[in-house]
Parts: sequence; C-alpha cells; structure tokens
Amino acid sequence: MLKEALKLLNQFEEKGFKAYIVGGFVRDYVLGINSKDVDIATSATPKEIMEMFPNSVLPKEEYGAVTLYLKNERYEITTFRKEIKYINNRKPIEIEYISSLLEDLKRRDFRMNALCIDKHGVVLDYFDGKKDIENKVINTIGNSNYKFSQDSLRILRAIRFATSLNFSLSDEVKSAIIENKHLLKTLSYSRKKQELDRIFLSSNAKYGVQLLIDLGLDKELEIYNMNNIILCNDIISIWASLDSTDKYKQEFSSSEKAIIKDVKEVLKIGINNYSLYKYGLYANQIASNIIGVDKSKIVGLYDNLPIKSKKEIDITAMDIERILNIKPGPLFKEVYDKITIEIINNNLENKKEKIEEYIINNYR
Ligand code: ATP
Ligand code: MG
Repeated sequence: MLKEALKLLNQFEEKGFKAYIVGGFVRDYVLGINSKDVDIATSATPKEIMEMFPNSVLPKEEYGAVTLYLKNERYEITTFRKEIKYINNRKPIEIEYISSLLEDLKRRDFRMNALCIDKHGVVLDYFDGKKDIENKVINTIGNSNYKFSQDSLRILRAIRFATSLNFSLSDEVKSAIIENKHLLKTLSYSRKKQELDRIFLSSNAKYGVQLLIDLGLDKELEIYNMNNIILCNDIISIWASLDSTDKYKQEFSSSEKAIIKDVKEVLKIGINNYSLYKYGLYANQIASNIIGVDKSKIVGLYDNLPIKSKKEIDITAMDIERILNIKPGPLFKEVYDKITIEIINNNLENKKEKIEEYIINNYR
C-alpha cells in the first residue's frame, strides 16, 4: 500500500505539485499498524487533481477531500489549506488554499496526526509526533484550548484515538477538554454518534468510557447512565443499554430504532414468557446481555413458549364474540388479552374447547 501511495506522490511531483501522505496512515505506519485508507495533502487544487485523475470523485461539500480509488485502496486527497473562520465551533466557513505543507500541518488536530511521508518514503516529523507516539500520549498542535474551542469534534477525536491506541491525554489536553466540553452541544448528533460508536466498539472501550466519565463528557453528550453501559461487539445492544437523549435516535435505521425500543420495554418488564412472546427472541437476548442473564437460557424459554404469535391461539375473535354475544370493544380486548396471557404462562391449554370453557367460566 505504501508503494502504491508513493507512486501517487511521484505522479503529483511530476506535474510540478507537492504531495505528501499525511494523517492516520503515517501515524499507523509509525505504530506498525495497518491502515485502511490513505490521506494525501497536496498543493494541487481539487480541479487540478480531477484533471490528473478523471476517475476521482469530487467532494460533496465545499473544501472536502477528492476521493480516488486505486487497486481497491481509498485515497482522500486534500489541497493544502489554512482555516480562517469557524462557524458553530465546528465547520470552517472560510478556507484558503495555500502552497505550504507546514501551514497545512498546523491546522491539524494532534501532533501524531501531523506526521507525513514524502515521495521518497521519508517520514517528516515537524511537530514531535514520533515522540508522542513513543510516549503514548496525545498532544494538540499548539494551544489545546484554542484547538478545542475552534472545533469541538476534536474533543471526541482525542478520546477516540486515546481509546483505540490506548494512549493517555496530556494534562494540557485534559484541562482544555474540560474547559471546552460545553461546546459538544453544538456538534451534530450524527458526528457525536459516529465517534461514540468507534469508542464503544473498540476493544479498549472500557478505557474510553472511563475517560468520557472522568472528564464529564457523558453529561454534555446527554448520556445519563454511562456507568451502566454494556460493552460488547453489537452497537445496537450498547445503545440499548444507554439512557440518552432521543436525539441520537434519528441516527438509527427504523428497524434499529424498533429493536432498541423493544429492548427498553423488555428491560422495564423483565424477561419472562410474556416479554418473549411480545418482543421476540432477539430483543430479549439483547436485554439478557444487558442484565447479565445467560443467553442460552433465553433460547430455551423461547423454544418452550406455548405460542409464539397471535395466529397460533386456537380460537378466533369471532368465536369469542359469539360465545359472549359481544361486539369488538373493551370487553373483547380484556378477554382476548387475558386468555393470551394465561396461555403464554401455561395456565390455560391452547385448545379450542379449553379456551371456550375458560371464557364461559370467567366472563359469562
Ligand atoms: P482514521 O482515518 O483512523 O480515523 P485519521 O487521523 O486519518 O484517522 P481522518 O478523519 O481520516 O483521521 O483525518 C485525516 C487527518 O486530517 C487527521 O490525521 C488530521 O491530521 C486531520 N484532521 C481530521 N479531522 C480534523 C479536525 N477535526 N481538526 C483538525 N484536523 C483534522
Ligand atoms: Mg484517515
């Protein structure tokens, strides 16, 4: 992958542009970790990049990265830039394309993320990124307070990198995060969830969650029970274990939303035959994971349910209405719900004549 990326850098240089591999790829390279995509910074403008690589994809947003796929690898190419004005502590509204790599590196978030590789494959380290990697610590480039106040996403990125790499945060970074944590409120729930998902799904998630709690970010993120989070490799289960503002909900698909809602209901009523009948095996398994009940026990309970759906009840609505000489309404519903529960709980056999007898004895 490095070889291919260096070839790309040389193509830029041949056209008279400067180009460097930057960001995560270089950080991971120094760490000896495989990276999934490559960020490239260049003096070529997006238009010039497109001219060189007609297959590349222009960014959707202004000032975004041009994306190029080569041999199944993704390259995110950005033009050297300086960020001039920020809106909402998040998006720079004014950007100036510049010709200097160094200026471009200065606008980046962390020292370890400002490492770059030149066309010869040499690692350039202008901001002590290697030292940070050696000491397993996260430092911002320049004043931390300034960095986080300009863009609150960096707060969550700091926690995410600390988590995935098992790094500590420097004291300056920690205090600046605390100073600026209220700005997380201005960040979209989609960006917050994206970073949180990566923290929660990390194999080192426990550490990340502890950082969020220790720095008081959980409350700013409107998550009220971070202490009780259930960590596992299923993001739906994780979010179902959290008591958070509903605003994160929009970020889930409708089927995910439905599952989370069902799991919360199961947690409210507890896992029993009724919860299994009403909310199904999957939601109950997630709930069992959250409250620490053996999953296989849940499967056994589910398999032994006398009925798994309405359709299996051995009496029709019309039968009930005939026996009691009633029309659909509150009484019908009461009877129907009652026999369902009695069947589910093995108090009433699911046989037509038994159910009829039960209705006659109790309601007529
Ligand atoms: P990964 O790709 O593993 O998430 P990364 O460091 O490559 O990690 P990207 O989001 O791909 O992260 O960003 C590439 C580089 O762009 C970063 O390494 C960093 O130098 C810079 N960068 C990204 N987001 C920000 C930000 N919010 N503020 C400042 N610089 C940023
Ligand atoms: Mg990257």
